[in-house]
Amino acid sequence: MELKALGYLGVDTTDLDGWRAYGSRFLGLQLTDSVSDSMAFRMDDRRQRLTVSNANRNGLGFMGWEVTDALHLDRFAARLEKAHVKISRGSRALCEQRQVRDLVVFADPVGNRLEVYHGLADAGTPFTPGRTMSGFRTGDMGIGHVVLTVPNAAQILPFYRDLLGFRLSDYFERPFKAVFMHLNQRHHSLAILETGEVGIHHLMFETLSLDDVGQAYDLALVDEGRIATTLGRHTNDQVVSFYAKSPSGFLVECGWGGLAINPETWQPYEVVHGPSFWGHDRNWLPPEGQEDARRIRMAAAQNGARANVNVIEGLFNVTKC
Ligand code: FE
Repeated sequence: MELKALGYLGVDTTDLDGWRAYGSRFLGLQLTDSVSDSMAFRMDDRRQRLTVSNANRNGLGFMGWEVTDALHLDRFAARLEKAHVKISRGSRALCEQRQVRDLVVFADPVGNRLEVYHGLADAGTPFTPGRTMSGFRTGDMGIGHVVLTVPNAAQILPFYRDLLGFRLSDYFERPFKAVFMHLNQRHHSLAILETGEVGIHHLMFETLSLDDVGQAYDLALVDEGRIATTLGRHTNDQVVSFYAKSPSGFLVECGWGGLAINPETWQPYEVVHGPSFWGHDRNWLPPEGQEDARRIRMAAAQNGARANVNVIEGLFNVTKC
């Protein structure tokens, strides 16, 4: 796979001030750079991972996908050109803004801006979270995942799977149509959700400790209207998470304990027991959708749906009983 991981994200917002507090004091990102019309956040050893820009719209600004080096970037660009995808080479100024060695820019069939890059700069100093927490799981698995909303999932799938090289993880038909795709051990770096509209549904960042998610949940609970999906556990990537409304309107999933798959042997399948083992009441679904989701979940529970927790080396104790 030429694309290795989701390496950075850009968000557009009409509420830059809202993002300052949301990004640092709620999500725990490190605010590194703040000018009048944008701000940048760190989440690990890299110089920046999330850029938030002042705009007259709210939504996804760009997705940054990593390749190994200049050779892979050229190869990738040539493949896109051969498929008649219009690409532009990133200027020096843009590389500087993104803190990368080089990049190319293009759009997916519904107009989302994609950037493929290599050489995201190291920060050279330790990550200091914006609130007390243990940090984010990134590295080879990338910074998390993006879930896009599309009018028709079947129409956009060939672009991501056949042209860009994403591999299918699994898919749902109920309670909504969704397709999940991976590039590395992270169960999905990208998903597309068929809602009828072009947009972004959510971003997911994964913390190192379960308590980081619980402590964020406490912060969200006292902020009326913040929680969009209650605490729960997903059946496919197995994260324990909740979803919090961002100042741009879309959601951010605060997660822990994601499944690491083996991309070489993984076989895609249809998830028939719903998206969650428990929890994840989605107040953004229409009432009949929420009811349907609850019914599927209760039936799955009755059928014994559960999975082991996924722990990170050094961050667990085994209790003998
Ligand atoms: Fe998610």
